[in-house]
Amino acid sequence: MCYADITTHADGTATALCYCGWTEQHASADAAGAAAAAHQYATEFDAADH
Ligand SMILES: [Zn+2]
Repeated sequence: MCYADITTHADGTATALCYCGWTEQHASADAAGAAAAAHQYATEFDAADH
């Protein structure tokens, strides 16, 4: 199971990331948080998604 988190940047963008190596760049912390939650949810049920 994955545990995703986000890192916010000085320009207002944010990166969602996970220890499995997955990362996604987003325009806002809210969007990155949603992506991180979706990544965790998806990998709970589909480990082959990695
Ligand atoms: Zn992951």
